Amino acid sequence: MIHHQYRALHSVITLAGLLLLVPAEISLASQNQVGDPPQTPLLYRLSIPAAALHRLHVQIIDEMPQGGTVEFAIPAWSPGYYQILHYEADIEHVRAKDGSGRLLAVTHASPRVWSIDTSAQTGAPTRIVVEYDVYAHDAGLGFFGSNLDGTAKLGYINGASAFLYEVGKTQRPVRLEATLPAGWNLATPLTPMAAPAATIRPAAAGQGGPAPLRFEAENYDALIDCPLQFGQFTSTEFVSDGATFQCVCVGSADWDKARVSTVLGKIVHAGIQVFGKPAFARYVFFFHIGGKGFEGGLEHRNSTVIHLSEALKDGKSEEFQTVTAHEFFHAWNVKRLRPTGLGPFDYSQPVRTASLWWAEGVTDYYADLIVYRAGLRDKTWLLKDLADRMEELDNNPSRLRVTLEDASRKAWEGESEGFDGLSYYLKGSLVGLYFDLRLRAVSEGKYSLDDVMRLLDTEFGSKNRAYPESALLTDLASLSQTDLHTEYADLVSTGKEIDWNAALEPVGLSLHREMSSYLGVQLHQAKGEGVLIDAIETGSAAARCGLQAGDTLLAIDGDTVTFDAFKTLLADRLPRSPIQLTVLRRGSQIKLLGDSGVRYSHYQLIPSRQDADVATAMTLFLPTTAKSPIVP
Ligand SMILES: [Zn+2]
Repeated sequence: MIHHQYRALHSVITLAGLLLLVPAEISLASQNQVGDPPQTPLLYRLSIPAAALHRLHVQIIDEMPQGGTVEFAIPAWSPGYYQILHYEADIEHVRAKDGSGRLLAVTHASPRVWSIDTSAQTGAPTRIVVEYDVYAHDAGLGFFGSNLDGTAKLGYINGASAFLYEVGKTQRPVRLEATLPAGWNLATPLTPMAAPAATIRPAAAGQGGPAPLRFEAENYDALIDCPLQFGQFTSTEFVSDGATFQCVCVGSADWDKARVSTVLGKIVHAGIQVFGKPAFARYVFFFHIGGKGFEGGLEHRNSTVIHLSEALKDGKSEEFQTVTAHEFFHAWNVKRLRPTGLGPFDYSQPVRTASLWWAEGVTDYYADLIVYRAGLRDKTWLLKDLADRMEELDNNPSRLRVTLEDASRKAWEGESEGFDGLSYYLKGSLVGLYFDLRLRAVSEGKYSLDDVMRLLDTEFGSKNRAYPESALLTDLASLSQTDLHTEYADLVSTGKEIDWNAALEPVGLSLHREMSSYLGVQLHQAKGEGVLIDAIETGSAAARCGLQAGDTLLAIDGDTVTFDAFKTLLADRLPRSPIQLTVLRRGSQIKLLGDSGVRYSHYQLIPSRQDADVATAMTLFLPTTAKSPIVP
């Protein structure tokens, strides 16, 4: 995921085009084809009987269990967004019946769980049908939740918000049948089911509504990892590196399909180049333009939904390119290469991992690399963006007190961005850069972070296994043939500063920055003498001096302070030099001693040696092409 503030395929299936290809009905007989009970698919039927009322209708059909209770639940969160969400508030009218239509008792056992008593079932077990409505009113065009707009003929489903799961059985295969209002289109990365030849029959006019579209998924995780976009939208397709891509745009038709496809083609090629081949046969980009709600992107294994405020136009906007590159790289990093806990998922509670800095921050570093390697942004842009990130981190006091591990584990308390002021996107991207530089330096250009990604893919992704936290250091160390334990611990498990010049010098770059005194206060002119302190930044020089909100600062080293003179008085002092503050606190004048603090600004990455130039240094950021087998 990435939030705006920090910064599929398949074809559009038209109902008219598919009427001849799908059966109007699916019988449970198709579920009986498998004698092995664990492989019996759970069938979801989705319909839109009341778009004007923002209601989706879902039926879940299963074989009747052998007595006892069966539980269905709605997730407490949606993978990719590490926050508790309250989807249960929009699940309505949950009821259940057996194969003969007899109602079964449903108990709403806890807010997200519904228990169905099947003990009254007599005779031969047949099937159980659980059904409910979903109030689909997520802000804007839908994002983490579902949205239906009958007037605009639009609908969007993020699966976690609409599909209950059978508790304890999320790994069973599932099927989905979607029946849409006439004239509505559907785009989703779900795999369409091939209709058995024997079931193909024309839907004669006047025989009722349109036939359902049928899909299958490996399990519940895969089902809800595939968004569904309904109704009226524009779309195009292209092919790159052997995979098919669909770009769906909702909310604005202001885009040049050919140009946007060209830009997307460059992004996907640069992303795929890291791994050598795509991790999917089809991938869908969903762009939601304008409207309310979360702005940014949410990753899925073979799709992404991205909400932007601006139309796609010709695809040249920086935000469009970097957010798209970020989400696309997630198809590997966090989806295929996933830390323990992020698949299979426990949807009932927060899942904590110390590796979100790698999953999100390093992905954001790759977003920069991808748009640079794709030729969409130049070296000046890349170096400035990296330097700006360094400046932002260095001016954030939380970097000293919050570790990347903690920021990752406590994402649930930190709005899915970090914890206590430290963003794992920001510091994680820089630690990614740091280890990229280190690997390139110690291997004399042979290996880079690309090789770590490939190694993780060989060991874990390609085997559909989650990686343990220890794998990141193990793979970095094995490729570099260097003991990186201390550096890794410093950067990931402590708040130690990143030594940029040591990391940059071997590759011909250095960091230039300016320093100035900085107290870290918000203030305004007092009614009488001095300035009134409104707020103190945590960990700042002002805090070290003992300055408090509500104090009136009268003088610095004896020089009278006014609102206009404050900046000049401070600028006249060397950074981190001793200072004495004269303060009026609750009617008494007191003296505080401390230092003038420091603020870094004007960060630039520049050549460090006369024999180096930026052009040479930029080869740093190009892909490494180690094709030989990597042996850990
Ligand atoms: Zn992300």
